[in-house]
Amino acid sequence: MDDILITDAIIAVAESSETGSGWLNPGNILVKDGCIAAITATPPQDISLSAQVVPAQGMAVIPTLVNAHTHLSQTFMRGLAAGRPLLRWLKELIWPLQNAMSEEVLELAALLGLAENTRCGAGIVVDHHKITHAPTFTEAVIRAARQSGLRVTVARAWSDRGAGAESPQLILEELEAWFSQFKSGDPVTCASGPLTPWRCSAKTLQTTHHLAKQYGAFTHIHVSETAEEVATTQKETGLRPVSWLDSLGILDEHCQIVHAVWVDEGEIDLLAENHAPVVHCPVSNAVLGSGIAPLITLLQKGIALRLGTDGPASNDTQDCFENMKMALCFARASNLDASAVSPRQALNMATASEGLAIGQPADLAMVRLDSLWAAPVHDLDSALVLCARAADVEALMVDGKFLMSAGELTMIDEEIILKESKRAVQTLRRKAGLDQ
Ligand SMILES: [Zn+2]
Repeated sequence: MDDILITDAIIAVAESSETGSGWLNPGNILVKDGCIAAITATPPQDISLSAQVVPAQGMAVIPTLVNAHTHLSQTFMRGLAAGRPLLRWLKELIWPLQNAMSEEVLELAALLGLAENTRCGAGIVVDHHKITHAPTFTEAVIRAARQSGLRVTVARAWSDRGAGAESPQLILEELEAWFSQFKSGDPVTCASGPLTPWRCSAKTLQTTHHLAKQYGAFTHIHVSETAEEVATTQKETGLRPVSWLDSLGILDEHCQIVHAVWVDEGEIDLLAENHAPVVHCPVSNAVLGSGIAPLITLLQKGIALRLGTDGPASNDTQDCFENMKMALCFARASNLDASAVSPRQALNMATASEGLAIGQPADLAMVRLDSLWAAPVHDLDSALVLCARAADVEALMVDGKFLMSAGELTMIDEEIILKESKRAVQTLRRKAGLDQ
């Protein structure tokens, strides 16, 4: 792999006494063997003659965004909520469409979703993968993930209670088969994805979590998205959902809590004490009228926070820039405090990082800041978080390889995927009974 030198860029680095602002401007990044070999104010001299030079004037170079929770199958279910709250939306639309999906259609939906994530600058995606009629459906998503070149974790969804319940034995066997398939360092990995506390038994939650940890994987679960769900768990167990997960002994740094909209102070303390990370999905929670997660309290308690768009059926895009801005906006609006959550805090949440650094894998996004909506730039953090849009992403590099370059995707043919997707969705609607 030839060296790559990105020149004349505005580089997001960790805030320090040297850089002050957390930006090196202008700066240069040398990429060697998939890693960041140098970040310098003046172009490094010892570069190979074959190095690819990429000028980045007017562009911020930041760590790739992380889309820490989505459902790629829902790329074919955008704009359908039509005012329905979570449970009605699931029963009337999402479940019938999911049941009507074939493996080929699922692969196409996943590929379209991953193309969108690439365009949005997301180099890391966690897909809470719900269509698990047979292992071949999971294989279809894995094929799409490999084609995209992104770092993708397929969190295989499961439930062993209620509609669509699977046997605990099947769940464990299938998870173990996936866990053992992926080697360390593979950009595509697998996780356990219990749907929600109220659809999972205590024992299977415990055994799957234990299994995931044995393989260096994790549990990824929707928790307390709506007040109604909290009431259900309370009625069944006498405990609120986070307290119940804690009582099972599975609340730890390997248990990703998605949503946490309706968590009380005691539960927030439990999340903090057990170092359980929270995935915040502000746009999805607002679209479905579920509520606003207590982001500021979660931040104050030192909880590891990530941002997720959630599935395109409840967002209705995977625009990580919009999500980052809305995380900041909702936190400020709900606290009546314009100083709550700084743009830099939002950027660090969105990238799960404090900036680019030497020795890291070369996972970075190049974002134009010279657009009509971002220029002139007074403050780089604000320009990036409050002004820039997903459409300003000019390039995305993962593991030293450009997956998008000069505004063009390099791994996925967008034109073909879009054409095939339109055709597939017409058939899917008929099959799901939406067009009678
Ligand atoms: Zn979700």
